[in-house]
Amino acid sequence: MSILIGPMKLHLNGHKELTSYGEVKNIVAGKKVYIPLQACTDILVNAGDYVKKGTMIAKRNDHFVVPIFSSVCGKVLGIEEVELKHNPGQKIDHLVVENDGCEDFERPFEPLDAEKATVEELVTFMMNAGIVGCGGAGFPSYVKYRGAKGIHTLVINAVECEPFITADYRIMNNQVEDLLYGTKAMLKMSGAKEALIAIKTTKKDLIAKVNEALKGQDAMKVVEVPDMYPMGWERTLIYEIFKKRYDRLPGEIGVIVNNATTAISFAEALKEGKPIIEKLITVSGDGVKNPSNVRVPVGVSVAEIVAQIGGYAQDEVRVIAGGPMMGKTATSDEMVITTASNAITILKPDPVDTIACLRCGRCNDNCPAGILPVRINNAEEAGDVKLLAKLRADQCIECGMCTYVCPSKIEVTEGVRRGKALLRAATQK
Ligand code: SF4
Ligand code: SF4
Repeated sequence: MSILIGPMKLHLNGHKELTSYGEVKNIVAGKKVYIPLQACTDILVNAGDYVKKGTMIAKRNDHFVVPIFSSVCGKVLGIEEVELKHNPGQKIDHLVVENDGCEDFERPFEPLDAEKATVEELVTFMMNAGIVGCGGAGFPSYVKYRGAKGIHTLVINAVECEPFITADYRIMNNQVEDLLYGTKAMLKMSGAKEALIAIKTTKKDLIAKVNEALKGQDAMKVVEVPDMYPMGWERTLIYEIFKKRYDRLPGEIGVIVNNATTAISFAEALKEGKPIIEKLITVSGDGVKNPSNVRVPVGVSVAEIVAQIGGYAQDEVRVIAGGPMMGKTATSDEMVITTASNAITILKPDPVDTIACLRCGRCNDNCPAGILPVRINNAEEAGDVKLLAKLRADQCIECGMCTYVCPSKIEVTEGVRRGKALLRAATQK
């Protein structure tokens, strides 16, 4: 089965000018950092141990291997179970480190020359460096390359289609050589003949910069894609480039996709032996006085970041983990930055009067996953799991488009999210 892609993609007002060109501000960690741990994680330190930036503190060890590193120097205080602010009800363990402000870095692994290394060495290195998808997903990247066969193209996703977010744009501008180094290493690991770096056609300055750096690199090139949403979604992007659809994974049609910042993080690991202990993220929206791109240690809270860039624009704001379309509203700004974070959007609350569904079908017409959001909403309200399965609620990518286009101001996406969760819970029984 191949998943359909709905006919519609929309041009959204990006508000990218808020953060595209200002300086990247460095955020200093406060007295404590809370480093999120996954389930099935072996803790490698004890309360009272002293760690440095880069010290390996834990390792996920179930069906994936993902080491986790300290982002600051200081004493380990222990493990605390903390509710995820953007996912109320879900609690996960966090390792708490008391930051002493020291800048010592402990290299947790040796750099690796990507030109000389074998494919197997590179894949193992990527695994042991804890490289995860930096575009928001946080999926361990090595899994895409382990045993990769029949891949003809590596796509580096630099589309960044959600409004407000410019973190990829900024980091690519600042570290174009790293982008190419990481991409080249990934290309080798994939076995593909060609790497395409997908950038929105409106980013002329970035396209020119990457093209200049790519001179003489015949196996890598820029592909320009329309400034539409959700062009950065893997299925939309692949359809745009190859006019092909797939069922579960892009590998089925010979493609691997990785995010641009992931390629840069991989380059930093290869060249410097540096894991992902800090992130360049966008903090933007009309609810913050000085929208900015910031470089922030993992485990620092949104409250600390906002305080260091000038504060909120008003007392009441809505804090969203991610962009305004796919992100999730948080219950508090004590939410911390993870290795997968790419943006925090802060908006002034916009009171809306919801009216009854007009049955206009706009949500259905605009769904890029080709499913029927309004019918899924109704099935969720009725608790009809069979119908949710029939309507393929699980295919929703939570892009936010159905809410965005709804003239009745119904939170359609939230209903579909609940429907997905209901279906998942029923199938896991
Ligand atoms: S959020 Fe809405 S529009 Fe987007 S994929 Fe899900 S159902 Fe479709
Ligand atoms: S877009 Fe809104 S009003 Fe129109 S059918 Fe969907 S839920 Fe109903």
